[in-house]
Amino acid sequence: MLYSHHVPVWFRKIFPEVIWSGEKTDNVVHLTFDDGPIPEVTPYILDELKKYNQKATFFCVGDNVRKYPKIYARIIQEGHGVGNHTFHHLNGWENSFDQYYEDVLKAEVLIDSTLFRPPYGKMSLQQFFKIKQQFCLVFWTYLSGDFDPSFDAEKCIKQVKKISKNGAILVFHDNIKSEAHVRKVLPEILEFYRSEHIVSKTLSV
Ligand SMILES: [Zn+2]
Repeated sequence: MLYSHHVPVWFRKIFPEVIWSGEKTDNVVHLTFDDGPIPEVTPYILDELKKYNQKATFFCVGDNVRKYPKIYARIIQEGHGVGNHTFHHLNGWENSFDQYYEDVLKAEVLIDSTLFRPPYGKMSLQQFFKIKQQFCLVFWTYLSGDFDPSFDAEKCIKQVKKISKNGAILVFHDNIKSEAHVRKVLPEILEFYRSEHIVSKTLSV
């Protein structure tokens, strides 16, 4: 699978309106989890975050919020942030402007947030310009690749340790594909944050 862990600087400069990193403080990061909430893994992530007293932002799929409202409510209750990740996890490149925009609005009914992250990071320009009028588009500093079957946990942890500063936004997933990988790396990352006094905060815009 082809994807880039890091976004090139030139690409960030083309889209200055998009958020690539958060609070520029030495020991602050922003953990984010996409695609949930689902019972198989989201409660586990919430338990871990609670144990280490860290906050994250969950970019939720509307249909999962509809199916699992209690897990969604728990995310909010425990002080985490939420963002819109469309209702059906649509790929912007494979859907018309109208289909895509409707799906975003359908998710908005359930997800109370001004944050939006496009599934697969893919949107047409028309979709991009429309959605950025209403939402703050959140991309990332570091994409963990936890969805990749050839995910290398040790390499991921090493990279996470290197980039966890200056408001870096890290992407993990609370979906089935990523579950085993997230269970492997999250406790170690949270241990590292504790020992280095690194704080993960919700994204505030
Ligand atoms: Zn996604």
